[in-house]
Amino acid sequence: MRRLATELEVRKALPRVRLCSLWLKGLLYLLGMLTLVSCSRGTDAQPKALFPSQIKTALSPPEAVASDNAPLPHIDAKRAFEYTREVTAFGPRYMGNENHKKLERYILDHLKGDQVEEDDFTADTVEGKFPVRNIIAKFPGTKDGIIVIMGHYDTNYPLRNIGYVGANDGGSSTAVLLEFANQLRVAPGKKRDGYSVWLVWTDGEEAVKTWSDTDSLYGTRHLAEKWEKDGTLKKIKALMVMDMIGDADLNIDRNTNGSPWLLDLIYAAAERLGYQSHFYDRQGPIADDHLPFFKRGVPSADVIDLDYGYNNVFHHTAQDTMDKLSPESLQIAGDTIMETIRMLDQR
Ligand SMILES: [Zn+2]
Repeated sequence: MRRLATELEVRKALPRVRLCSLWLKGLLYLLGMLTLVSCSRGTDAQPKALFPSQIKTALSPPEAVASDNAPLPHIDAKRAFEYTREVTAFGPRYMGNENHKKLERYILDHLKGDQVEEDDFTADTVEGKFPVRNIIAKFPGTKDGIIVIMGHYDTNYPLRNIGYVGANDGGSSTAVLLEFANQLRVAPGKKRDGYSVWLVWTDGEEAVKTWSDTDSLYGTRHLAEKWEKDGTLKKIKALMVMDMIGDADLNIDRNTNGSPWLLDLIYAAAERLGYQSHFYDRQGPIADDHLPFFKRGVPSADVIDLDYGYNNVFHHTAQDTMDKLSPESLQIAGDTIMETIRMLDQR
């Protein structure tokens, strides 16, 4: 994926704190002790969470969170971390190479007994023709409609000779979706209680030369077109992409290329789990696998941390290795999306 022309806007906590203290002083003078009580309640909270929470409280219907006592999800993050290690150990996994084929078999082996579909085609690129394969696992639900979760499993063709293994970029997304499959599986012949959930391991997300509209997102551009023709797009209630979510220093960006209500719902899910300090410190537009669907009107969100190492220094380098990741980050991102699915099921 790639950042668009605009840099991510950092929403620093400091000016907010300063604003609050100015506001406090002014209002203290005018309104007295009552105001002091309400603001000091705010400053006791984490500065990062303070501002978004206040906005959200103002916008959300009060019944959305208050009456919901459902148990919180908890994925097996250690297992997901082991998957990441195994996926990364295959080495460079660009479209069609031997390691990519091994990984396809590895994913399919994990989905034995599940309803699996493959979307295969040949991409004609500036570097020649490549076989592309999206892998789709379907978990049918009792409700009419589909929630789609995507994550890419390919690594970059241009980085094939530098020892690039994409632990975070490609590895973590592949692994967390495998763990979602474990969580979504129900007894044979039964349906999950809620919408159908489709997990999609996307291929050809990365550019083969230089990122552009035509050199990127090969798998999802193909799938969006296919789903537009066969009517699937109309049934999708929400589509969420997971990308680079293993970074030990996890800060999920609010990717403004997305549906605001879905971005807010993800935040509400994170808040229920107490993970909100890992979300939305920065915001800006990022191009990723959700775009071909978002452009066609599908409610979409991209769950991504595009600040991988100081100033994103590990991104698309040989330093994207397992030692930069943590099971805790997979826990945070994974639980949050499982909770978002549950909250979507309630709607
Ligand atoms: Zn990438």
